Amino acid sequence: MNTHQQLMRDTIVSNYSGKNRYDLIIIGAGLSGLACGLLWQKNTSGMKTLIIEKNSYPGGYSTAYEKGGYVFETTQLFPDITDILDYLEIDLPLKRYENNFMRRLVVHGDTVDEYKIPAGSEHFTAYLTETFPGDAEKIRALMQYSVDLFAQVRKLKANATLMDNLGTLLRAPKVIANLNRTYSELLDKFGITDTRLREVMETFTSFSGVPSDRASAILATGAMLSSMTRCFRPLGFFDEYPAKLARKYQSLEGEILFNSEVERIETNNGVVTGIKLRNNPDSIRAEKIITTIDPMRAMHDLVGDENLPPEYVKKLKGTIMSPSSINVALGLDDGIDMTKLDLDYPYNVVSTGLGTAENLFDEFLSGDHGFSGDCFHVAVICPSLTTGAKNTVTIRSTPWALNGWKELRETDYEKYRNKKEQWADFLIGIAEKYFIPDLTKHIVVKDIATPATYARYSGSPTGSIYDIASLVTQFGPKRIPMKTPVHNLYQPKFAHGLYGTMMGAVQVIDLILHRRFNGGNSLFVPKK
Ligand SMILES: Cc1cc2nc3c(=O)[nH]c(=O)nc-3n(C[C@H](O)[C@H](O)[C@H](O)COP(=O)(O)OP(=O)(O)OC[C@H]3O[C@@H](n4cnc5c(N)ncnc54)[C@H](O)[C@@H]3O)c2cc1C
Repeated sequence: MNTHQQLMRDTIVSNYSGKNRYDLIIIGAGLSGLACGLLWQKNTSGMKTLIIEKNSYPGGYSTAYEKGGYVFETTQLFPDITDILDYLEIDLPLKRYENNFMRRLVVHGDTVDEYKIPAGSEHFTAYLTETFPGDAEKIRALMQYSVDLFAQVRKLKANATLMDNLGTLLRAPKVIANLNRTYSELLDKFGITDTRLREVMETFTSFSGVPSDRASAILATGAMLSSMTRCFRPLGFFDEYPAKLARKYQSLEGEILFNSEVERIETNNGVVTGIKLRNNPDSIRAEKIITTIDPMRAMHDLVGDENLPPEYVKKLKGTIMSPSSINVALGLDDGIDMTKLDLDYPYNVVSTGLGTAENLFDEFLSGDHGFSGDCFHVAVICPSLTTGAKNTVTIRSTPWALNGWKELRETDYEKYRNKKEQWADFLIGIAEKYFIPDLTKHIVVKDIATPATYARYSGSPTGSIYDIASLVTQFGPKRIPMKTPVHNLYQPKFAHGLYGTMMGAVQVIDLILHRRFNGGNSLFVPKK
């Protein structure tokens, strides 16, 4: 089987016409950039639009690749984006996880607690009250509050005006009440003190790679409810999603230029004027620019601190980007029957007990990592159970700091390879112990991504995999705004994940179009 032929990402090619002036330039052809381009083309006419991408295909972090005859994917699931896909006329066959949302193991020394978390908030509430009957009332109260809070989030306006903020006081009081609350504090508010119950609930902050005592309660609640209520992945490989966005965008006369790295965002007196590509002396002029790359790279390096107000530079410098990851992708022989292993969940997660996320995150902040046999948080995913291709398993661990990985790769590749093999063995050992007996015996192909891989691939100076960290201290009005201090330069990068990227695109295009497309709403509102 020539699996390479199956990758749709490679069917999308540059259609740059060579113009030197555009109405809109978008930097990056990840899902943010593609969604921005497509929404813009759909809601304007006759515009000259160019997406510039340094890689040779679209998708950014959301992609698939082939190695040794196996197809591996980076991303694994997303909450409900069907409305926006319908609006964009993207026909992406999806698998919906109807029954189970997560298989969760928590290790306490020699004992392992297992939870099979069902999909849907009502099922989840029922499951929790059955599992923790002594806390049934508290659980019901917390879940009802979470559902109400999430409903109020849907009423928020993006890029809010003073009037919007006044309206929020009336329409979304729970959002206001939780703006500065961490997810731990939300659990405290409902008197959730049982250690094991907290371990289950705090699973949801780990989606964003931050611990519950720092994660925004609103974001964690949103991540929990939006993913568990309606959770999807493509039926085919993940690269189909960006490939279809790219094809549709090109069909609406949008242009893409691949293999081209933007080296400079040019400004004049605080107004954006164009970009300059690496190894190309000529500028391409643009009326407006949207950057969808790591904000530290875009603003500090491409715009340059000297072209930004000092208070903005200070805010940027104080912003914590999300952690990086070590990811092990395995191709397995067909001597193993994956369907018999109870692994067909969006997530299979194993970690050590309460305090693990805090410890790992503190180590990450100090520039190191806290992984050991007594402290770990690892997800195991089996994409081939959906795609039907040859057996694949992905083992993912976060948080890791970039610290040292990049230098080691550049200065002593042999040592770098040994180090990554060593951590891959550690992660494979965990997957084998808790989920896939005899895993090691079945490995045919192994591909290991380290923080250096993520930094190189995405251009993020910290190898961050979820944009700006979703800490309560840099959430909502405290985040870096989408409208940058450079006139006509926009940056829809504030929320992690595929759902966040689509909503970021909705918000920024709506902002540029003076709310003509989505009425200023923070989430997509389908037209009736
Ligand atoms: C291993 C992994 C697993 C994940 N799993 C999930 C998941 O299951 N569900 C989920 O919701 N989210 C997941 N995420 C997060 C999700 O993939 C990202 O939030 C999302 O894809 C970000 O899209 P983006 O377009 O904003 O950024 P990116 O995907 O980073 O796209 C930015 C693009 O810009 C390009 N670029 C960078 N610098 C330049 C430059 N100077 N010039 C030109 N081009 C440039 C890059 O090559 C890239 O293509 C995962 C991320 C990783 C890394």
